[in-house]
Parts: sequence; structure tokens; C-alpha cells
Amino acid sequence: MLASTGTAQAWGFFSHRLINRLAVFTLPPDMIGFYKANIDYLTDNATRPDSRRTVVPGEAPRHFLDVDVYGDSAVYKLPRSYPDAVAQLGEDSLLRHGIVPWQVARMKGQLTAAFQAHDTDRILHLSADMGHYIADACVPLHTTHNYNGQLTGQRGIHALWESRLPELLSAGYDFFTGPAPYLDRPTQTIWAAVGRSHAAVDSVLGFERELSRKLPDDRKYGFEQRGNLTVRTYSRDFAREYHQRLNGQVERQMRLALRLVGAFWYTAWVDAGQPDLNALPRTPSEKEQQRLALEAKQAAQAPTTPVAGHED
Ligand SMILES: [Zn+2]
Repeated sequence: MLASTGTAQAWGFFSHRLINRLAVFTLPPDMIGFYKANIDYLTDNATRPDSRRTVVPGEAPRHFLDVDVYGDSAVYKLPRSYPDAVAQLGEDSLLRHGIVPWQVARMKGQLTAAFQAHDTDRILHLSADMGHYIADACVPLHTTHNYNGQLTGQRGIHALWESRLPELLSAGYDFFTGPAPYLDRPTQTIWAAVGRSHAAVDSVLGFERELSRKLPDDRKYGFEQRGNLTVRTYSRDFAREYHQRLNGQVERQMRLALRLVGAFWYTAWVDAGQPDLNALPRTPSEKEQQRLALEAKQAAQAPTTPVAGHED
């Protein structure tokens, strides 16, 4: 039995989990105890926004921004305020072409408010989710309309870059980033991250194209066992050579992602007046745990029909 692995899930579950987890270790002493106590929560829930794509209306566009549909230098020009963007571009366009930087900026405000309210449930919930969207903003193919190479005959490149490469190679990555910095202008920071991701799109697509010319299909693809399924996927040789041509790009973007996740958590806490996290309940409430269990159940039973927005 054959199945394709070409889904366009952000970063792949493996990387999202790793990024949220490693971000905890960038936090200052006043925060790290609380976050370490919840490191499994932050890891396990790192992928929740992807799981609920087909359940929650409006979820899909939060994970990407098709910068190129707005023109070459759009990333420098698009309105940073969401209401301004709605006024200028129309909400239809925004929801079709993605809203990830606006989503992160909005959640930064929500997380600051949750710290001010000393609300453990919301702090954890927002920290986990915001980590996911920040990580998505660091994936080059989350900033282009050609998000899975579907316009250039390179279908499958999304999973190659964000799942296959880190799963094969991340054991050798260097994730040391030092302590999370305070962000004076968090909105500018997330837009800069989207700009950097978008600048990498050409090499992400170009190197795959070059390499595909060099390696015939029987060397480009291989078959691997996944549970009971035999799946066709990019071969290990192809993945390794692609990685070499990208010269550590996936590793750099993962490192940027985890550093930014830590920085946004830290900045929200500072902007909330540095509340004493040791005085908060250490774990999510019973009610929140029940809500999460219900959400997970709904996501598991969700229809598998694609929803609009990088659905390939
Ligand atoms: Zn995502």
C-alpha cells in the first residue's frame, strides 16, 4: 500500500515539539521554574494549532503569509496593524493569504494580559500556541503562495524541508542560542522573521530543482516503512545533499525559532510587570485539562477534507 507524505503541516510535529521544549531553556531564572514544571505540556501542545485546522474556523490562515501575492517588497510595506491591513487589503484577502505575523503580535498582547491576570491556564495555553505560530513564521515555505512547490513541479518540498531534514539530521544541530533577549519592538521582530524566511524561498526551491536535475527519480525517491504503510519519500541521499546545499539553513531557522519563542514569552512577562510565577498554580487546572482532552478528541474525529489555506 502506498501513501504520499506530502502534507503541508507546519514544521512537522517533531520540530514544533522540539522548538517549544528548547525555548524553555532560554528563559531567565525567574521564569524557568514555572516553564520547566510545564515543559511536557508545552511540548505536547506545540502541535495543537495544526491539529485543530479542520475544526476551528479561521485557524488555517494563522500559520502562514503569502508575501508574494502582495508584490516584491510587500513584507516591508504591509500594515503592521491588523485593522489597517483589513482596511487596505480586505479581510477576504487576509484570510486567503494568511495572517501569521499579525497573529503573533496579537498573541503577544494576550500573553502579557494573561501574566497580568496571574492566569496559569491562559499563560500556558497562549505560550504553547504562540510558540507554534512563531515557529511557522520561521519556515520559508510558510511565506509563499508556492508553499508546496505545487506551482513549479516540486510537490512534496514542504515536508522535505520542514519534516524530513530535521527528522534525519537534527541530532547533529547546534541549538545553543544563549538567553532570550527582551524585544523592544516585538511586532517589528516577527515581521523581520517573516522577511528573512521569505528571502530564503528562492534557495529552498532552487536547490531542490538543481538537485532533481542531477538525481534521477529512482535515486531521488525511496520507500520507507511507517507502521503498516510503505511510503514514498525523498531518499536519504537526496535529503543529505539538499541539506548540504542549503548550508545549514534548516538548522539556522530552527535556532531562530526557538530563540524567538523564548524572547516573546520573556518579553510578555516583562511587559506584564514581571509577576512572581512561583506564586501561581504550577499546573493547568482540572477544567483546562478537561477542555484540552475534549479539543484533542474533536480534532481526532475531525473530517479529513482539506480546508482552504495551504491545504495541499
Ligand atoms: Zn502551523
